[in-house]
Amino acid sequence: MKRRDFVRTAAAAAGAVASSSAPLSAAARGPELWLRRAVRPVVVSDVSGIRYTNGGPESAVERAFRGIVEGEDLLDALIHGVNIPELDPEETGIGFGGLPNADGVVQLDSCCMHGPRKWAGGVAGIEGVRTPSRVARAVAELTDHHLIAGVGAREFARDLGFQVEDDLNTPRSRELWLEWRRRVDPGHWLDPRERLRGLGERGGETDPDLIGRGRSGGGQASLDPGAMRRRSDAWYRAGLEMVRDGLIPEHSFWGTINCDAVGPTGDVCGVTTTSGLAWKIPGRIGDSPILGAGLYVDNEVGAAGSTGRGEANLYNLSSAMIVEFMRQGMHPKDAGMAILERIRANTVEPRLQDENGEPSFDVRFFIVNTAGEYAGVALWGSGENAFAVCDENGAREEPLEGLLTR
Ligand code: ASP
Repeated sequence: MKRRDFVRTAAAAAGAVASSSAPLSAAARGPELWLRRAVRPVVVSDVSGIRYTNGGPESAVERAFRGIVEGEDLLDALIHGVNIPELDPEETGIGFGGLPNADGVVQLDSCCMHGPRKWAGGVAGIEGVRTPSRVARAVAELTDHHLIAGVGAREFARDLGFQVEDDLNTPRSRELWLEWRRRVDPGHWLDPRERLRGLGERGGETDPDLIGRGRSGGGQASLDPGAMRRRSDAWYRAGLEMVRDGLIPEHSFWGTINCDAVGPTGDVCGVTTTSGLAWKIPGRIGDSPILGAGLYVDNEVGAAGSTGRGEANLYNLSSAMIVEFMRQGMHPKDAGMAILERIRANTVEPRLQDENGEPSFDVRFFIVNTAGEYAGVALWGSGENAFAVCDENGAREEPLEGLLTR
């Protein structure tokens, strides 16, 4: 959508707020409160929300923003948005084609929260469904529960008519998984190219675009070689090496989309959806489906969600804390920085620290408040260093504010 179309649709939305056709929930609050809450809609997400379109005309934040200004339910607009990277086979951190667990099985996590309705729902470790965010929404809408996991989540989805597939791997995600296995278990998983080279032959059947491709520049704190040397868990080191070697985009190893929005009446919703940490122990659940960790929404305050090392958010209940900091009056950026400081202070295990004693991983937060103020913050202000924003001025990437820089 071009900028002038955004301006036109956003202006129409503002007009709708000022007209008698304003949403009932807003009108019911009385004119004074209703006017106070009239804000300019904005959608924020991590970069997956702007860099992937699944071959279509819109990214997640553009689709979500369009839905909002056209009067779609706020959470539905966000979920339609994140369905784009969920379905995009090129996005290896979310939904279909997400990087699998250590056994090669794609297990997905998602949750959503509907601010004005006080609904929430999530699925954890679900297999076979390309769009876990939709199943999470169904948990919120159709059940008394907030979280359904594993086989139960898959069968719940099947019962509702979702297509359940045997395998959500793409050739790319499967090949990357095989490469990871070769790196962690080279005694059993042989590299066919090395073997052919040993015989004086060239090539091999592995797609050269997937294997052995170098990458120039970039890198982030978690790729610090000193920190990696000290880590005992070879699987993690191999995964980070694959990021460093350019096989996996950094945002896919830590791949997730969190997408939050404030609508024209100041209502707030959010959704998070992910394939979780690449090569995770089967059954591992991260922060993404856990309310308060990977996402939290309070319609009187705002919304916050995360990507990055989920265990840090589970330990610190980060998203809920950010919302609480905003409730106490903090700007979204300050609230995000406050929880990043807490994560930093709570990261005391040497295995999680770099050579300077700082966290060797990254965590990022995407935050909006009911006034339409927003922020994107990260533990490390390096690496990809951007987040996605869409408002009346169109979709764009803005710099992530880093607590630490290298
Ligand atoms: N936060 C998610 C998790 O830990 C995925 C990620 O962003 O890496 O599962």
